[in-house]
Amino acid sequence: MNQGKANIHPIAQLGSPVLRLKAAEVEIENILDDEVQQLINQMMTTVSEAGGVGIAAPQIHHSLRIFIMCSKPNTRYPDAPLMQPTAIINPEILRYSHDKVKDWEGCLSVPSIRGLVPRYNQIIVSYFDQQGNKKQKELSGFLARIFQHELDHLNGLTFIDQVESTQDLISEEEWYRQIAIT
Ligand code: ZN
Repeated sequence: MNQGKANIHPIAQLGSPVLRLKAAEVEIENILDDEVQQLINQMMTTVSEAGGVGIAAPQIHHSLRIFIMCSKPNTRYPDAPLMQPTAIINPEILRYSHDKVKDWEGCLSVPSIRGLVPRYNQIIVSYFDQQGNKKQKELSGFLARIFQHELDHLNGLTFIDQVESTQDLISEEEWYRQIAIT
């Protein structure tokens, strides 16, 4: 299925029970352990190979509160900002903006569907990084959207749970035909 690339993990698809679990916190003193570091590296490789801008540990069948953000311009998100792949461990949202903005999302675990998803446009977040340092940041726009999408995965949710109406779901083929070109 994946040309024998041993480091690439099969991505859990919608219906897989692991995507519906509330993931467990990572013990802070374990962040530097090989097990956690290898999981982070596997997630980084997998999301890169899949061309995604984020991936959460449950998507590679580990129910732990870790995700990767790796926004970059690509064919799926041509306007995405460029950033170094960043591991986000035990994430929390401390503050939300009042306003939500609707924009299109896809998901490596929900192939062939796009949804118009309302998300807070600005958030203040905290998390531990791959070295175990506590971080606090303000995120806005597309990066705030990725953070909220990936945090949902740690709480057993996917973007299709967050759309206001099933009318806001379309096929990826129609998304490319109607939206991507404009
Ligand atoms: Zn996703």
